[in-house]
Amino acid sequence: MRFDSQGQPLFDSDGLLIVETALAHAASSTTKATSSRPGLIVAAGSYSALHRQYAEVPTTHWPRHIIAPGFIDLHVHYPQTDIIGAPADGLLPWLEQYTFPAETHFSSDSHAQEVAVFFLQELLRNGVTTALVFASSHPESVNALFTQAQQQHLRLITGKVLQDRNSPEGVRDDTEQSLLDTEQLIHRWHQHERLGYAITPRFAPTSSHQQLYGAGELALQYPDTWIQSHVAENLDELRWVKTLYPQARSYLDVYRQAGLLRPRAIYAHCIHLDDADRRLMHDTHTAAAVSPTSNLFLGSGFFDFAAAKHTGMPWALASDVGAGTSFCPLQTMLAAYYVGREGQTKEGLSLAPSTLWWHHTGAGAAALGLHNHIGNLQPGLEADFVVLDPHASPLLSRRSQQANTLQEQLFALIVLGDQRAIAHTHIAPRIALSNAL
Ligand SMILES: [Zn+2]
Repeated sequence: MRFDSQGQPLFDSDGLLIVETALAHAASSTTKATSSRPGLIVAAGSYSALHRQYAEVPTTHWPRHIIAPGFIDLHVHYPQTDIIGAPADGLLPWLEQYTFPAETHFSSDSHAQEVAVFFLQELLRNGVTTALVFASSHPESVNALFTQAQQQHLRLITGKVLQDRNSPEGVRDDTEQSLLDTEQLIHRWHQHERLGYAITPRFAPTSSHQQLYGAGELALQYPDTWIQSHVAENLDELRWVKTLYPQARSYLDVYRQAGLLRPRAIYAHCIHLDDADRRLMHDTHTAAAVSPTSNLFLGSGFFDFAAAKHTGMPWALASDVGAGTSFCPLQTMLAAYYVGREGQTKEGLSLAPSTLWWHHTGAGAAALGLHNHIGNLQPGLEADFVVLDPHASPLLSRRSQQANTLQEQLFALIVLGDQRAIAHTHIAPRIALSNAL
């Protein structure tokens, strides 16, 4: 399965994916490879249309499976891997009781390395081939994750969290040093192989004006870096921001004033926005990382998909682990469907299965400005893909046999699928992990 330029799904029941690999190795549901630029997709289409042209290429067959673009997780915290499922009374108590204590440990290089290894394996087990990741406020945490991602040739973006106030000892950083550290990390890692740096203020309440504006200056100085933060997740948070930044029109406007809205800027949640905010995101090419399992878990509210559509605000899906309850994109898409259906506090709608899928792949790549590299299976893009098994469990298999259309099959995977349905995750240009790990 792949998508056209409008995000509409294209599907061949006898699909063939031709991939360039260093080993002249191949992949498909009937898939193949040749040789010119390792790691790139050469062709995608039906076997009957393509196989003669690539008759010499070795082929891997995946009968009854679906080859699809690797998932993109637009917002996830790797230092929170170990606190997934921690109970708390909403966002702010959850930060104090679980998040900050857990993140304190990431000043230790060995701890950071150990968690980074597990975290990346978990992404791959779930078919996530690219993620925009929060590290902790310690540079060691960034170095650990980049080091591990580089070894596995992953396209991954992360950054050191900036938080110089309203944070406990152990995670609070120093204003001036935090900006120096950020610049140093940009020089060390940004655009090295497949890695990218994200300037990462945690959220407005935990950064001084000086730190937030300093982050904005770095974002201007290094325009191809990414920016990631949180906005408008919860009503208590909104009231807090109002007292800290009384001059701003809205919470989002705090970031605008600091120079932190631009292409490649991604804000998690975006629940309690008004249409002026949504238009501002559209006009500045700033995207929302919609994190429905997290929003349901913390009771934060419901992202308004209809308002996003009306205003043209870009959005894509994210796990937001550890407030999110699953690394699995199938479960994130199901939660997004629930949130979309909710029609008591906003307009309820049914997001089509392929729309959910597009917003966890191609739309995520577009939000990152990487749509010419990842997020789809088209010639010239990097061959990061997953092989899905619609027969991975008895009930899923039974339901899949009744699916008459692609939308029905995708929805069966979303509603009934889990990590077992990710049969294989392929990272360009070499085979990464299989689900046997
Ligand atoms: Zn988050």
